[in-house]
Amino acid sequence: MSQVLIVTGSSRGIGAATAVAAGRLGYSVCVNYRVNQEAAEKVVNEIRAVGSKAISVQADMGKEADVIDLFSTVDRELGPVTGLVNNAAILGGLQSKVEDMTAERINKMLAVNVTGCFLAAREAIKRMSRERGGKGGAIVNVSSLASRLGAANEYVDYAASKAAVDTLTIGLSKEVAHLGIRVNAVRPGTIRTDIHASGGSPDRAEKVGPLIPLQRPGEPEEIAHTILWLLSQEASYVTGAILDATGGR
Ligand code: NAP
Repeated sequence: MSQVLIVTGSSRGIGAATAVAAGRLGYSVCVNYRVNQEAAEKVVNEIRAVGSKAISVQADMGKEADVIDLFSTVDRELGPVTGLVNNAAILGGLQSKVEDMTAERINKMLAVNVTGCFLAAREAIKRMSRERGGKGGAIVNVSSLASRLGAANEYVDYAASKAAVDTLTIGLSKEVAHLGIRVNAVRPGTIRTDIHASGGSPDRAEKVGPLIPLQRPGEPEEIAHTILWLLSQEASYVTGAILDATGGR
């Protein structure tokens, strides 16, 4: 039986790179997106082209009903999930200081970046848990170097959401280890994706590049490989780990 992987937010960026790389390894992949169906279909076609199963599912990870529907669709079309990558996340808006942030901005961002990860993990555990007849599995949460640096003057709100993801990883890993489920996080540094444009700074990755010990921003594929290692049997004794993939920053 093929491994069934859900990658949230995988129409673009790190999620898309992870979905494609997983397809190459033979995973059946659920490509989740919020609005960009065309991009999601492109990822699905890339996975099918290498001979693996893939479906695209629209679901807003900030909405509980959508998260539940996403997992039910995967049950029906691919089978019970064995791997989850909690990747979907947003910056709340343009780069701002805390003194200028609204409750609306903060809550909208937390619903996706934090509540969405909890809810997706909950649905995955129901299906993976050995106590509920599942076969175990692995969850990888995509955090951020921002949780360590704090993102002052840019998005402290987003950085704090990623600190919550780090803590979710530590606590949940202990809660579900005996159920056959490993939970880890990858903490990317500055990676070349569209997320920077959504914060009003499209060339941010290039600007930050010289500050990074490896002297360049990372590529989405480099994070994908880190995520896939944590999901794999090669990482069978790794749980509760938060792995920095930051170019040394
Ligand atoms: P990105 O290029 O902005 O792509 C975001 C993806 O998430 C898209 O596929 C988007 O779907 C999807 N998405 C957004 N909101 C969603 C929602 N509510 N429900 C479901 N899907 C949603 O982002 P990225 O840079 O690849 O970031 C991926 C992850 O890495 C995030 O957790 C981010 O915090 C983390 N990260 C990124 C960096 C970086 O420098 N890029 C650094 C550290 C951590 P649509 O196409 O439909 O909009």
